Amino acid sequence: MTQTIAKPETTPAAYRQYIAGEWVDAEGGKTFDDLDPFDGSVVAKIPAGTKRDCERAIEAASAAFPAWAELAPAGRQKLFFRAADIIERRTADIVSILARETGSGKAFAMFQIQWSVALLRQSANWGYLPVGDVLRSDLPGRFVMAVRKPLGVVAGITPWNGAHNLAWRTALLPMAFGNTMVLKPSEEAPISAGIILAEILHEAGFPPGVFNVVTHAPGGAAPIADAFFESPAVRSINFTGSAATARMLAERAGRSLKRIVLELGGYNPLIILSDADLGQAVNTTAFGAFFHQGQICMNTRKVVIEEPIAAEFLTRLVEKTRGLKLGDPKLPDTVIGPLINDAALKMVQHRVDDAVAKGARVLTGGKIEGRIFPPTILTNVSPDAEAYHEETFGPVLIVETVANAEKAFEQASATRYGLCASILTGDQERGLQFAERFDAGMVHVNGPTMAGEPGLPNGGVKDSGWGRSGHYAVEDFTEVRLTTLTRGAMTFPF
Ligand code: ADP
Repeated sequence: MTQTIAKPETTPAAYRQYIAGEWVDAEGGKTFDDLDPFDGSVVAKIPAGTKRDCERAIEAASAAFPAWAELAPAGRQKLFFRAADIIERRTADIVSILARETGSGKAFAMFQIQWSVALLRQSANWGYLPVGDVLRSDLPGRFVMAVRKPLGVVAGITPWNGAHNLAWRTALLPMAFGNTMVLKPSEEAPISAGIILAEILHEAGFPPGVFNVVTHAPGGAAPIADAFFESPAVRSINFTGSAATARMLAERAGRSLKRIVLELGGYNPLIILSDADLGQAVNTTAFGAFFHQGQICMNTRKVVIEEPIAAEFLTRLVEKTRGLKLGDPKLPDTVIGPLINDAALKMVQHRVDDAVAKGARVLTGGKIEGRIFPPTILTNVSPDAEAYHEETFGPVLIVETVANAEKAFEQASATRYGLCASILTGDQERGLQFAERFDAGMVHVNGPTMAGEPGLPNGGVKDSGWGRSGHYAVEDFTEVRLTTLTRGAMTFPF
């Protein structure tokens, strides 16, 4: 008999926003229902926050900034370590809320938790990184320093898919470098991408105002964003989400001359050369394409495989895919759970139907089952089909057979996205040559497209956005203050 995942013990029944170190209802007291994507039940009532709530959070973050920016590295380190310990203690709780709120299976929930703990422990030490350079001047007696300073208040806008770890990434990178945060989680995951982080940081003893969470009802993101763009205290927006929303936010950031960091989607190809290990290729593909129902920005969307091994690869991939267990993500052995909402189910079905209408063959899957979209493999997909060039945020994989490696490179490169790509080959040198040439933020030789680690510089190019995580984020969340000291008298032209 399968066991269900433990019910949460420590999460409170009533959820509130977190502003200036206090738990608060939305201005006006309105709430909205946070729904379970598997059975449609109400997980919790969440405050429907307003622009005014967000303005108050920005004021709190602004007031907390000078002391947080000046806090000694050891002080910040202690708080980050404590938070990591609290996440570990609350693991069962977080697994449960991720399943109920976002449809995440146990494996992906555990991945998110371990990733977040590791990021907290690594970024705890970034306060000790060098903060600048001493530079040479051509002027006599001039001492020159380039010193990195935090920006001020950073606004975080997070998605629902990797709800927990992406929220931590959004918040921790700026905070580790001395910025304070107002986090706006996705309306689909207000607890696991926001409120639970506040509970953890509150318990860890973060000073009031350093981290704030404002929640909002579906359709209510725009007024929160208005508060971000209108406030001079907000110096940067740290966004993870779709390219469509990013385009709109980046335009506004341009008009208000704010920095913006964008971590967007991808159309991540996996090339399989004929000298690759076939068993590894099948497992790498199934994991890369179908983990978390294909709702991760790094999921594999397309396989391009050399002709000699294509037929056997497809037979084995279809067999493995048909064996993946579909069902309730609260059961620990479920591999494929529900898509996040009805709009997502409809979109994925539309993309498959559109491809089929334009000549594609469905090798397995292809039709909604309840709230689940079964993992689907398509071949013969026409370049005219939407799924051929758009990111389909669900468990749909396109497989293309090509005559040779050069053709594989060409077809894998035909995308406006540039998040990640992989190549499987028995020849490591060939793999590295591919990595050198491929235009993406992350390229993996003999690994899945989904291979993010918390300390590494994850991020994309082209329509996949810009900015890098890990300590490389120092570029995004600090600015360089040029400071000079002139010793002795200067000479002037007049
Ligand atoms: P998805 O379609 O995967 O939900 P989105 O880009 O719409 O991706 O969502 C990512 C984040 O962007 C969420 O937190 C969402 O609330 C937010 N968002 C959506 N629309 C806007 C908007 N007009 N202004 C600010 N944030 C927005």
